[in-house]
Amino acid sequence: MTSQPHTTPGAANSLDALAKRIRFDLDCLNLPSPNWVPERRTEKGETVNDVVVIGGGMCGLVASFALRTSGIRNMRIFDRNPEGSKARG
Ligand SMILES: Cc1cc2nc3c(=O)[nH]c(=O)nc-3n(C[C@H](O)[C@H](O)[C@H](O)COP(=O)(O)OP(=O)(O)OC[C@H]3O[C@@H](n4cnc5c(N)ncnc54)[C@H](O)[C@@H]3O)c2cc1C
Repeated sequence: MTSQPHTTPGAANSLDALAKRIRFDLDCLNLPSPNWVPERRTEKGETVNDVVVIGGGMCGLVASFALRTSGIRNMRIFDRNPEGSKARG
């Protein structure tokens, strides 16, 4: 079991204390999860993406983030717009 992180009086509002608290909370939630999908390759030895997200707008980024924090890291996002440009608006 994970124990409560120690915070000194007066330091609770410091960025350092907040960072430790967030780290503790994420550890309790097992986030980010370790990558649990075995690596797969084609017969030619090329790596295979586990997930491909089409569209790097808000929905695509949220889906990608959800997968990443769930332990699925081997993915790519494709967007028809050039890298760095806006999705919409
Ligand atoms: C002018 C404007 C202002 C807005 N202002 C706000 C605001 O202030 N606050 C707010 O909350 N919402 C705002 N919205 C709404 C918000 O932008 C949308 O709700 C949100 O972007 C929808 O997300 P999405 O992922 O569904 O679509 P999008 O953000 O449109 O993302 C879709 C992505 O998929 C890509 N794509 C589509 N088809 C393909 C394909 N065939 N191959 C590859 N890539 C593809 C597109 O290039 C795009 O990058 C605004 C919208 C507009 C138009």
